[in-house]
Amino acid sequence: MEKLVIIGAGIAGLTAAIYAARANLQPLVISGKEEGGQLMLTTDVENYPGFPEGVLGPVLVTKCKEQAKRFGARFMDGNVESFSVKNDGKNNFYEIVVDGEKVEALTVIIATGASAKMLGLESELRYFNRGVHTCATCDGPLYGGKDVVVVGGGDSACEESLFLSKVTNFVTIVHRRDAFRASKIMQERALSNPKIKVIWNSSVEEILGDGKKVTAVKIKNVEDGSSRELKTDAVFLAIGHIPSSAAFKGVLDLDENGYIKADSRMRTKLPGVFVAGDVYDRIYKQAVTAAGMGCQAALEAERHLEGISK
Ligand code: NAP
Repeated sequence: MEKLVIIGAGIAGLTAAIYAARANLQPLVISGKEEGGQLMLTTDVENYPGFPEGVLGPVLVTKCKEQAKRFGARFMDGNVESFSVKNDGKNNFYEIVVDGEKVEALTVIIATGASAKMLGLESELRYFNRGVHTCATCDGPLYGGKDVVVVGGGDSACEESLFLSKVTNFVTIVHRRDAFRASKIMQERALSNPKIKVIWNSSVEEILGDGKKVTAVKIKNVEDGSSRELKTDAVFLAIGHIPSSAAFKGVLDLDENGYIKADSRMRTKLPGVFVAGDVYDRIYKQAVTAAGMGCQAALEAERHLEGISK
């Protein structure tokens, strides 16, 4: 029986692992197929405290993992297939099935993060990874000297566009409204960049291609209903994320968007089960807030275990 299993190895899960390992809980961290979480898909993180020159997302994650290992955290690769509550006649414990293998735990921290939202077009699936992408920092360099489209109007769309402006020929942002929701500083950077243009009040209706790769997008003006084609070599979707909570549906309470519900102390409705990071947080979604929640969840797990042993 594990004292603590942490599901997810992004910044939230890894921070929980550092705290729990230092508290001698020897946590077992289950890393899914997207180990390291969304920070692995970004370049410079400029707003993580302590790094005045910025820090590369993957570097930050790798260092957190090393830090957790140094204090005794253990890591297991695999995807969580199911999560259920068990009872030994006295206390609840939890069973997590990871690629067919059962893991039992007294406490669990769920830090499974979120994944990129898609437009819902058949054509975006047909051309996925053949011109349609959800991570500019991962796939942008494939389009050196080419023209690309970014869809969205939040911080991600601005940040990805700024990155793409450095590695591609020209970036067109297609946004469905007449204003960005991104923070002011990101908006200003994107709007003042001569290699970035915005097409406002427009949605991508269709991704067009030659059967092998993307060649254009069909854009609809949402105000007058007119459609037109814009030639492009790639489309980067930056329209938000969906929390990775499917394995917990029916066992924990989820809100209408799939975020796991918890109180301000990261406690879910099940005693001993806590959450941290983007699978819970629909508001802040920052590396530093995810890390903070990881810390809170680990401290709460420690308290819970002390209660059980008394
Ligand atoms: P977001 O803030 O939710 O923005 C999503 C954008 O995509 C919105 O502009 C939205 O349009 C648009 N959108 C959503 N669904 C769409 C659809 N089906 N078709 C077309 N457009 C669609 O998501 P995000 O930009 O990924 O940011 C998420 C959070 O992370 C935010 O809190 C953000 O501040 C934070 N973040 C911060 C940084 C940074 O500080 N460097 C970088 C990235 C993200 P509407 O505006 O019309 O709703």
